[in-house]
Amino acid sequence: MTTQGAWQVCNRLHKHHDHTGGVANLQQAYPQLKVIAHQAHGVAQDLRVGESDSFQLWGNQVTVWHIAGHTEHHLAYLLNIDGRYHVFCGDTLFSAGCGRVFTGDMQAMFNSLQRLLGLADDTLFYPAHEYTLSNLNFGLYIEPNNLAMQQRQQEVRQLGEMGKASLPSSLSQEKQTNVFLRVTNKEVLQSVAGKTPLADTQAVSIFTALRQLKDNF
Ligand SMILES: [Zn+2]
Repeated sequence: MTTQGAWQVCNRLHKHHDHTGGVANLQQAYPQLKVIAHQAHGVAQDLRVGESDSFQLWGNQVTVWHIAGHTEHHLAYLLNIDGRYHVFCGDTLFSAGCGRVFTGDMQAMFNSLQRLLGLADDTLFYPAHEYTLSNLNFGLYIEPNNLAMQQRQQEVRQLGEMGKASLPSSLSQEKQTNVFLRVTNKEVLQSVAGKTPLADTQAVSIFTALRQLKDNF
């Protein structure tokens, strides 16, 4: 992929301004720019995509997933390079955390995260923000004895001091260090129940309680 090639495609994963505010300017600066987006956004686009669509990017296949929750029409792009998925998951999954649920539909967000959780362990995630350290601080508030989280916290601090990002991260790493993917873990259930009243002990209820705790953390 050349630098110029990278500018020829602009993927819009969801509608929020911090992700789309520059698209019009980019289109102006790069007339050959191809915008790939969900049809609900209402800007000039060359390719409209939704659930289960696929397209070719730099010789690789990209599959589109509709993963609602952060916004109603949020998409993920699963880029398949030699059989390994590189997932551009926007503001749905962050390393060690997840996005805010602006739709209020906790079940949808839970389903979206569970869907990502079903991918192969070597899947790499490229979230749209670097919130890893603050997410780990919250994770350790819920799971203070989680060794993998403690180690990751140290590692991410060191990366930060060197001016380096903690991304991408693998699904196997997220399984160990992302509390929002660990809602069926007994310790997580007990910890959450000790901090806030739970409607019941279903995974989606624990997820909802966790997300609300994080909103006020
Ligand atoms: Zn957003």
